[in-house]
Amino acid sequence: VTSLAGERVALFGLGGSGLATAEALVAGGADVLAFDDNPASVAKAAEAGIVTGDLRNADWTRLSALVLSPGVPLTHPRPHWSVDLARVHQVPVVGDIELFTRERRIRAPSAPFVAITGTNGKSTTTALIAHCLKVAGKDTQLGGNIGVAVLTLDPPTPERHYVVECSSYQIDLAPSIEPTVGLLLNLSPDHLDRHGSMGNYAAIKARLVANAEMAVIGIDTEPCRHIAEGLASDGRDVTRISQSAALDGGVGFDGKSLVRRMRGFAEARFDLSAIGSLRGRHNAQNAAAAVAALTRLGVDDETIARGLTSFPGLAHRMEQVGRSGPVLFVNDSKATNADAAAPALAAFQRIYWIAGGLPKEGGIASLKPFFPRIAKAYLIGEAAPAFAATLGERIPYEISGTLSVAVEHAAADAKAAGEEAVVLLSPACASFDQFRNFEVRGDAFRAVVAGLPDVEEIRG
Ligand code: ADP
Repeated sequence: VTSLAGERVALFGLGGSGLATAEALVAGGADVLAFDDNPASVAKAAEAGIVTGDLRNADWTRLSALVLSPGVPLTHPRPHWSVDLARVHQVPVVGDIELFTRERRIRAPSAPFVAITGTNGKSTTTALIAHCLKVAGKDTQLGGNIGVAVLTLDPPTPERHYVVECSSYQIDLAPSIEPTVGLLLNLSPDHLDRHGSMGNYAAIKARLVANAEMAVIGIDTEPCRHIAEGLASDGRDVTRISQSAALDGGVGFDGKSLVRRMRGFAEARFDLSAIGSLRGRHNAQNAAAAVAALTRLGVDDETIARGLTSFPGLAHRMEQVGRSGPVLFVNDSKATNADAAAPALAAFQRIYWIAGGLPKEGGIASLKPFFPRIAKAYLIGEAAPAFAATLGERIPYEISGTLSVAVEHAAADAKAAGEEAVVLLSPACASFDQFRNFEVRGDAFRAVVAGLPDVEEIRG
């Protein structure tokens, strides 16, 4: 990146994308001094030729920026010491998305740039839009919070499309972000630790859509509805989306199809009922956002429909991994708390539910409305006794202990019942008591399912 060419820059955070950011800055001619609390990361950066050293000893009066890597806490538990130093010396604090934004402005300000934020559904929506753009034959770059550092993407050209997932933290560190299409899906009182209050959290996310040429905003949550109204009354280009009703002037879901009634475009319908990877109303919200963005970017309706239908979905998020006659096996390992498990429980009937792991505060009490859908629960990990107590006497359950026992028992019971049913791993728990992370847990589920007799594996 060239926007800081010839300037002195401090960089904090050398894990994964921090190192990529440092390398991009150096390649663009910046004079970088980098640091991390973790000596192993510092050693790795030094090996890669990055100048490292304690930022406390740097000459802060001569620094043009402090670049913070994603994941460095900004306000929790208190402002990071490097941020404190930057504030004292009035050095701007920025992240990699800000650097990308400046690079795009220098090299190709017309390069289509879709930025996606919200409390839930960011990765799914980002992947879906990128998939449809690829189906449309566009040069497509996917990155940001989804796990690919933006500065490792190919450099901006007028034809190159960028689809970038933004956490609120990344938006906070990108003061001049100006996407072609800015998407705000939903807001729930999450991540309050980092941003102090709901108002502050909403304000940060709102900046992404406020600065966009076209804003796409989900109006199913109150804070977002409010933001949409504010922007529209300022005369901004706002497209509303909803998972609960068709909308005039927007894209909404009528229970079966997305109905597009965007101003300036022909009315169109996209049937979601047969698309397994977009099951559930929450996914209708993600798909509605994608349809609005793709329409704005000039993708034709037939291509959008093909993109939606061929979307493989993301691993570990209501991912269909196998089938045995009427029984479907679904990996929703990403559901690491009760709120995240709710959409999967809402999307199926007759559920053989595998849950448990390292329990989170609140347990599964909030999932009670879905209990009637549960044919039986198979409880694993440390949370098993507490979950059993919440399920009580009315919902059949067993303490399976391990994931493999749970899968085997659930598959046998579902098969014996002989009805259409789903064996669902949606644990409502972190995985760390038995697995390294939720991905390893989901992979283990897939492997056990694939090893069952009579199961046909499904691959995205
Ligand atoms: P994020 O990137 O924002 O964490 P993901 O796309 O990875 O979101 O989805 C994570 C989980 O959040 C999904 O497994 C699903 O349970 C839930 N989810 C996905 N989309 C939505 C949505 N639009 N509204 C509410 N919950 C959602």
